[in-house]
Amino acid sequence: MKKLFIASNNKNKIREIRDILDRNGVEVELLCPADFDHHEEPDENGSSFQENAYIKASYYHDLFHYPTIADDSGICVDHFDGGPGIHSARFLGDLDYDHKCDRILELMEGVEDRGAQFVDVMCFIDENDNVSYYEGINEGRIAYEKAGSEGFGYDPIFIIPKYNKTEAELGDAFKNEHSHRAKALKEWIIDAKDKL
Ligand code: IMP
Repeated sequence: MKKLFIASNNKNKIREIRDILDRNGVEVELLCPADFDHHEEPDENGSSFQENAYIKASYYHDLFHYPTIADDSGICVDHFDGGPGIHSARFLGDLDYDHKCDRILELMEGVEDRGAQFVDVMCFIDENDNVSYYEGINEGRIAYEKAGSEGFGYDPIFIIPKYNKTEAELGDAFKNEHSHRAKALKEWIIDAKDKL
């Protein structure tokens, strides 16, 4: 079976990517750094999702030489001028996500402009070192309180306006069809799955 290296140690992302590929009939063996007991990570010091996705994809591609896909993603909140954006994982340091969500809700107490986007940029490097990018964006808004138990990260506070529910309430089946990550990966599937 063809192999695809996922440039991530984030188990939630890897689980979602696996499910999105399965839903779209892409038969591929996924490999990730943990399979090689490799725990060092590249410094994500880019200034955009695209730059950080390239940093991750090229780091693991240079090390392991498999066709490699990296996902850089985050939540961009209008009230924070697009932050935390590329800093979503590092935002508020080592706090767990339950508390990070609480903190965002606190910082937005009384704020009416609750617009936000989830952004995902994937960088793919094939066997011949060709580099391509795929993007998925979901428009939404920040809830007034956390809701739902599925998904991960900021899902309990991100409302999809069409359903007036958070991504954590809408759940994995919804996310893996419609999320920012699903949108970006489906673009990759259309363009690149045959390049494995
Ligand atoms: P990175 O792409 O590894 O730099 O980190 C992305 C961070 O953005 C995650 O750790 C989460 O904090 C947030 N994030 C990205 N995608 C999602 C999602 O689908 N749901 C909830 N939070 C997400």
